[in-house]
Amino acid sequence: ETIGANLERTVARWGDREALVDVPTHRRWTYSELDVEVDELALGLLELGIAKGERVGIWSPNCAEWVLLQYATAKIGAVLVNVNPAYRSHELAYVINQSGLRLLVSAVQHKTSDYRGMVEQVRGDCPGLSDVVYIGEQSWTDLVANGSRVDHVRLHEREALLGADDPINIQYTSGTTGFPKGATLSHHNILNNGFFVGELVHYSELDRICIPVPFYHCFGMVMGNLAATSHGACMVIPAPSFDPAATLAAVQDEQCTSLYGVPTMFIGELGLADFADYDLTSLRTGIMAGSPCPVEVMKRVVAEMHMAEVAICYGMTETSPVSTMTRSDDDLARRTETVGRTMPHLESKVVDPATGLTVRRGEPGELCTRGHTVMLGYWDEPEKTAEAIDAARWMHTGDLATMDGDGYVNIVGRIKDLVIRGGENVYPREVEEFLYGHPDIADVSVVGVPDEKYGEELMAWIVLKPDAEPLDAEAVRAFCAGKIAHYKVPRYVHVVDGFPMTVTGKIRKVEMREAAVEILG
Ligand code: ATP
Ligand code: MG
Repeated sequence: ETIGANLERTVARWGDREALVDVPTHRRWTYSELDVEVDELALGLLELGIAKGERVGIWSPNCAEWVLLQYATAKIGAVLVNVNPAYRSHELAYVINQSGLRLLVSAVQHKTSDYRGMVEQVRGDCPGLSDVVYIGEQSWTDLVANGSRVDHVRLHEREALLGADDPINIQYTSGTTGFPKGATLSHHNILNNGFFVGELVHYSELDRICIPVPFYHCFGMVMGNLAATSHGACMVIPAPSFDPAATLAAVQDEQCTSLYGVPTMFIGELGLADFADYDLTSLRTGIMAGSPCPVEVMKRVVAEMHMAEVAICYGMTETSPVSTMTRSDDDLARRTETVGRTMPHLESKVVDPATGLTVRRGEPGELCTRGHTVMLGYWDEPEKTAEAIDAARWMHTGDLATMDGDGYVNIVGRIKDLVIRGGENVYPREVEEFLYGHPDIADVSVVGVPDEKYGEELMAWIVLKPDAEPLDAEAVRAFCAGKIAHYKVPRYVHVVDGFPMTVTGKIRKVEMREAAVEILG
């Protein structure tokens, strides 16, 4: 099934139910209303001459137009290219040319980002980019108005040419470990993943999902939007970009049943001075994903945010994204301490990166995924695709994991973040989990730094709680002494206000390692 056909079914079943709420602009759509606007936009794109398979970019923080364009491009079989809203002109030009954009739909301005200024600046360097449409401006109104004058037959003619295995989306990875890569995904890839994520958190037309994570990333547009629309649930946009207070206010005012976030977002919400003033009792479930989910944070989310059925998902852009997930009937320990079991109709295995052979259950190795969520490939980068997906179609994730006898997976860290100190493997995650238990520590991230004697040493970057006493390396080491193995005890401590982050809310350890080298001189 194509994404367009799936949306039509939802519209037919739940046309009167609310589909989308854009809280900052006070706009709301039922599924029937959404359908009308998506079709007008799709017909407007046809009027512009957008062919099947042609690339249409979207460069914007979260807004309703993002969602409309996602479904309009799917309906005409154009490939939607998600451009990271944190990009600046140089990166924008790279993505436009690398993906061969024909049309770019762009925001005008958000906070200090002058999107229009940057687009106009690079336009001359992007010969293939023939059209730019600005959201909220005349060019957007014209696009939709042109569509509203076109006969629907044109849309049906185009729909007849589409197949579920066609590429429909290029999503760039977060760029946590280096330069982002463009994962090319089909209708089949992302629609199925969205649908099964929704199944496992038991979405129905009664659910209202608060989505503070960026649409530009799969967490927003697949686990959020596609999970919602394939089950008739409502998408709620609390703010253009993450804002903890706006998020909790939207949950309360819109009576949301589900809330998404990467761990740092939940930490930010729980840390609000007026956290206790929000009424979050409408929440039932939600998803925490994207980076290691600290057990302490999960416990607070369950107890203090009423998200008794909250799920943890693990995945990557290249796998549409979710490959393992906890279920609400898993016992609490497994729901907070593991990333759950393999998604329906997918396969997982854990291999020794050196030999490629499957390791014994419980032993760490590289996690590999196979099945309907594995991307078609990296856009226009066949060598990188061949490095990531082997001849038997296994996606090699670059993540170290263990799998227990019942199939529950534990992510121990990225292969690239593994620290080898004096010949001992140290998984930063384990040290981070331990340090979360310190009463003064709000957030912590551990990296390896070069060391002459041991090869590498550990440095803990620490964000203190607002009223905490100052903390130095000695105090941290005293806290660890006798409780974790001596080689896991951080040698250095660096107290900060926050970590270098990607726009998807992931900690850029590459940058921390570079900074650490400078700090240590
Ligand atoms: P890049 O590939 O550009 O370096 P990235 O890997 O962060 O960036 P994404 O595709 O957004 O880009 O993220 C996928 C990665 O996020 C996974 O490979 C994994 O390392 C991490 N991740 C996702 N979910 C979890 C989770 N629940 N627990 C631990 N790590 C997770
Ligand atoms: Mg990656």
